[in-house]
Amino acid sequence: MRLYLALFISIFLVTTIYAKPTPFAVTLYVQGKSISPQPPLITENGISYISINTLKQITPMSIHLNNKDNKYTLTHRKTGTTLIITPSAREVLVNKNTFFFNKAPIFFENSLYIPLDMSLSILGFSISPTDNGYEITPSKRIKAEQTIGTQDNFNTLLASSGSEIRTTIDDYGIPKLLPNKPLFISFGSTLHDISDAYFYKDDTLYIALNTVFTKENITIQETPTSYILTKATKTIEFSKKSPIMTVSLPNSKTETQIENTPIKKDNQLYFPLRPLLGALDLVSFWDKEKRIIKVLIKLKQINIVQTHDNRPEIQVITSYPIERPTIQFDDVSKSYTIQLPDTKSVLPKNLQNPTDFIHSIKTVTTKTNTTYMEFKPAATADYPNLTLTEYGYRINFHKSTTEISQDPLKLIIKSKGSVKKYSISKYKAENRLIIDIQDTICKLPQLIRSENPQLYSQIRTSQFTESPLQTRIVIDLEKNVELSTHKLQGSDIEITFKAPTLREQKLTAKPKPSPVRSKIIIIDAGHGGRDPGAMPTREFFEKDLTLDIAKRVEKKLTKNGAFVIMTRSEDANTNLSTRTEMANQNKADIFVSIHFNAMYKPEVEGTETYFYKSKDKALADSLHESITKSLETKDNGVKKSQLYVLNHSEMPATLLEPLYLSNEENFKKIQKEPFKELLANAIVEGISNYFKDH
Ligand SMILES: [Zn+2]
Repeated sequence: MRLYLALFISIFLVTTIYAKPTPFAVTLYVQGKSISPQPPLITENGISYISINTLKQITPMSIHLNNKDNKYTLTHRKTGTTLIITPSAREVLVNKNTFFFNKAPIFFENSLYIPLDMSLSILGFSISPTDNGYEITPSKRIKAEQTIGTQDNFNTLLASSGSEIRTTIDDYGIPKLLPNKPLFISFGSTLHDISDAYFYKDDTLYIALNTVFTKENITIQETPTSYILTKATKTIEFSKKSPIMTVSLPNSKTETQIENTPIKKDNQLYFPLRPLLGALDLVSFWDKEKRIIKVLIKLKQINIVQTHDNRPEIQVITSYPIERPTIQFDDVSKSYTIQLPDTKSVLPKNLQNPTDFIHSIKTVTTKTNTTYMEFKPAATADYPNLTLTEYGYRINFHKSTTEISQDPLKLIIKSKGSVKKYSISKYKAENRLIIDIQDTICKLPQLIRSENPQLYSQIRTSQFTESPLQTRIVIDLEKNVELSTHKLQGSDIEITFKAPTLREQKLTAKPKPSPVRSKIIIIDAGHGGRDPGAMPTREFFEKDLTLDIAKRVEKKLTKNGAFVIMTRSEDANTNLSTRTEMANQNKADIFVSIHFNAMYKPEVEGTETYFYKSKDKALADSLHESITKSLETKDNGVKKSQLYVLNHSEMPATLLEPLYLSNEENFKKIQKEPFKELLANAIVEGISNYFKDH
C-alpha cells in the first residue's frame, strides 16, 4: 500500500515539473539543407530550446560533460569556440567571457536544452522563422573569419550576429535592445537583473527601478498630477500629463521637455531611463558582452582650499554619493592614487598648476570605467586623510613627527610637513626635558633607546593631545647634563646638550650597571577586563594576580634602569595582537607574559614555562630556573607551545605559569605578601641572568 502511494506521488510530481516543456516538430534549414532535429526542439513559456545534441546536426560540435562540477563544455570543431554551460544557470562562459542566456538551460528526457535563439547567435548564426521551422544561416562575418576562434574575433562575431548592433546607439551608448533578452543595470557594486522590467515606447527605453530606488535611497511619491522622486536634497518631478521633468535643488529649479511620461504597467512604475539618469547627473555605459547598463558617477570638480587652520584640503565633488575609495602610496613616484570604480571623470587630465603644496593632480578614466585620481603633494606634506562627503570626498593633510635621530651631543626630531611651533620646558626635579610640538601627529615609537647613555637614559613620546594635535617628547637627562641649544632647521628640531667633562663624568659614574639597564622589556599581565582568566574562587581572578605581580616586576626592573612597557597597567581588556604589536613597534628586547595555571585535577601543581620560537628558549630557561629555585615548586619543565604572544612577538618571549591556582596549597601560598615578592624577585632575577649572556 505504501509503495503504491509513493509511486503515485512521484509520478504526479514528475508530471507537474515536466508538464510545461513540449516537443514540437520543425524543420531547420541550414545552408540549404533541411534537417529534422533529433531530439526535437521543445518549447516552454513561448521560448524555444534546442538540445545540445541537436547542435551537432547544425554545426560540428564536441560535447564533454565534466562529472566533477556537472558542467558541459561544447567546443566548435572549426572555430574552437567553447561554451561552458551549467545546467539551470543562465550564466554561460564563452571563450572565458561571461554571457547570459535569456532563460536557464533545462533538462528534458535526459537531454540538456539551451535557448535556441541565443545559443545559435553565440555560435554565430542568424535565425529566421519559416512556414514550418527556422532558417539558420551563418552570420556574414563568420564566413570570412571562420578559421579564427580567438576571443576578440569571437566577440566581433557575436556582435555582428545579434541584430541589436545594427540599430542606432543612443547618447548613452545603449543600442536599442531587443525584448525578452537578459538585461542588467548596475549602480556601483550592485547589479540588478531587469530582464523582466524593461520595454520600449517610441524608441524610449523604460525601466522599472523599484529595487534600484530602494537600494539607492530614492523615494517615490505619487500625486494626482505627478510622480516625485527624492534623493537627498534633490527632487525630480515627472508630470503625468505632459512630458515635462522638473529637477529641483534647494536653490535652483530646471524644467526639461522629455520624450515621454512615466508609465504604470502591471502595478509597476516604469521611468524613461535617459532623462532620469540625466536628472540624477549620472551617465551610463553599455557593456554589450554582459548586457549590463552600467550607471557611472561623474567626477565633476576638484578644488584645493585652505582650511581655517591654514591646512590644505583637496575637495573632490562627484555627481552622486560614492562608495569609500582607498588611497595608495607609490614610493617611487612619491604620489598617491585613489581608485574610483564605475565613475567617469569630466575633468581635464591635468589640473593646471595647483598650489605649492600639491604639485600635481591628474585624473584619468579607463575603458573599464575606473577613474584614477593621482596627486603628488610637496615632499614636506604627509598623511593624507580621506573623508567621504555627501557628494564626493575631501583629503586633509597633517604634519607628523616621524623620526628621532641621535648624533653624539645632538638629537634631531624629524617631521613631515613644516613644523612651525614647538616648546621646550624642563622638569627640574627629575632632570627631564619636555618638548611639545604643536600641530603634529606622533608617528614615533613610544619608547626610544638612548644611543648617548652618557647624556640621557631614554626618550619617551606620545600623542599628548588630539585636539589640537600635539606631540610630546620626554627626555630623561643624566645627572649634570643640561640643554645647550635648540633650533628649527627646516622642519627638523635640533637639540644639543652640555655634558660634563670626562673627569666630571668619572666622578659621578655609578659603580656597576645592572644587566637590565637600558633594556626595553615588555611585561604582559595575562588576561584583563572581560577576560578574568582562571577563577579558583568566585572572588579571585587570575587577571588581578597577574597585574599585581606585573606591577611589582615593573617597579624592580625600572629601579635597575630598564625601560619597562606594560601591555596593560589596569584592569583592561587588551587583546593579544595589541600586546604583541606594542612589543614589536617598540623593538623591545624581550617579552615576558605572566600567567597562573589551573586544572580540573586539584592535585596537579608546580611551575611550567613556555617558549615557541628558538630564540625564546634561553629566556624561558633562565626564568624557569630562577622561579623553580626560589619558589621551591615542583618542576614541570620548559615546554614548547605555539601560544599567540610567543608566535607573534619578534623578540625573545616567554610565558610563565609559576603555580596552579587550582591546587589548594599553591593557591594559599600565592595569596601571601612575602610569596608575591619572592615571585616578583625571581622573575627580575631570571630576566637579569638572561641579559648577562645576551
Ligand atoms: Zn592565563
